[in-house]
Amino acid sequence: MLFKDLDIIEPIKKALEEEGYKKPTPIQEKSIPYLLQGHDLLGCAQTGTGKTASFAIPILQNIYKDKSSAKGIKAVILAPTRELAIQIEENFEIYSKYMNIKNLVIFGGVSQNPQTKALKEGVDILIATPGRMLDLYNQKFIDLRNVKYFVLDEADSMLDMGMIHDVKRIIKHMPNKRQNIFFSATMPKEISKLADSIFKNPKKVEVTPVASTTETVDQSIYFVGKKQKKDLLIDLLKDKSMESVLVFSRTKHGANKITTQLINSGIQSAAIHGNKSQNARQLALNNFKEGKIRVLVATDIAARGIDIDELSHVINYDLPEVSETYVHRIGRTGRAGKSGVAISFCSMEERDLHKSIEKLIKKQIRVVKDHSQSASANDVSTNDKNNNRNDNKKSSANNKKNTSSKNNRNWKQYRKKTVKKVSDK
Ligand code: AMP
Repeated sequence: MLFKDLDIIEPIKKALEEEGYKKPTPIQEKSIPYLLQGHDLLGCAQTGTGKTASFAIPILQNIYKDKSSAKGIKAVILAPTRELAIQIEENFEIYSKYMNIKNLVIFGGVSQNPQTKALKEGVDILIATPGRMLDLYNQKFIDLRNVKYFVLDEADSMLDMGMIHDVKRIIKHMPNKRQNIFFSATMPKEISKLADSIFKNPKKVEVTPVASTTETVDQSIYFVGKKQKKDLLIDLLKDKSMESVLVFSRTKHGANKITTQLINSGIQSAAIHGNKSQNARQLALNNFKEGKIRVLVATDIAARGIDIDELSHVINYDLPEVSETYVHRIGRTGRAGKSGVAISFCSMEERDLHKSIEKLIKKQIRVVKDHSQSASANDVSTNDKNNNRNDNKKSSANNKKNTSSKNNRNWKQYRKKTVKKVSDK
């Protein structure tokens, strides 16, 4: 199928061609016809599937064709992070290149003045994070009376990040007669409840269900002692074919620490997370996109909005607490039909997380047995002893020792079992 088979108007088609889009992705093939017909849509798709264009193209086309349209904001797109909001706005800009449509992105953490100035000048499509949107609405800078299209992108992370109440407040201020579009990688109960309360007979579309991880991604796992992860990372990064690597850290502090260690080892890298200023995040992202740095270390929330076409590797320095996050993470590589590589580090403390991930994806991740730090996987007792160096209580120290040798045994058994499981396959 080609874009012309989807009845896409000429100005958009031209912009897509220039952007190198040859044919619609599956989510676009499914969503665009429904949205052009004006249906509400509930889409289950993760980043990397082309979901942004699947709602941006029909919204632009419908606005362009609707000559009767009053002035003012006609479409609101809510996204959970600034990075994602910026990314969406960039996509709208690309697709509306040959149209006279004004897009604006607003988000918190920066001065509101340029945003309110732009709002006063007139906006057709507003892309926003919920907090800043509600704030500017309450200050009467935003008029929602003419909104005809409403998109909630990455609805599940909105829920995770506690933004759902702001979202509900914003929805209340919009006219009832509008087209609603939700996109979410997973569909938690609260999101489907919200959808049920506002949708009118929605069409449902789904691609790559969350449990079936992208087939184009080569996934492997390294068992490694917690303290040896850094050396393993540095060692792996010696491979120059790792051109653009996104490393996931569970915490902001961890992301900073990993970045410092990499820089000290001569590997150009930058951290991107919520404690960094908007400018620092944007600079890091630009440097990464331009290939000035090979490695970006991010937390899950900050990484949500990162859209890089040529991401060669994803490294899970820490396994995520929530298995679905693993799917989101590895979805960042192997995009739009390209192959990608996802490497995970698993310390003994993370065995349960590893198990849950494999249960979710219904697949065993290939175990890399021999690597520079493989001996450390058995070295848990040493680590625990070091960790407990300051523990003066003898009995407590003895307890720890017992636990650590038990852990060590468990770990060995676990490794043996897992490796066997995979090689049996
Ligand atoms: P998204 O899932 O919206 O974040 O899109 C992932 C990436 O795929 C973005 O870099 C898009 O520019 C790109 N993309 C979206 N649709 C297409 C298409 N039909 N052909 C080629 N690339 C696309």
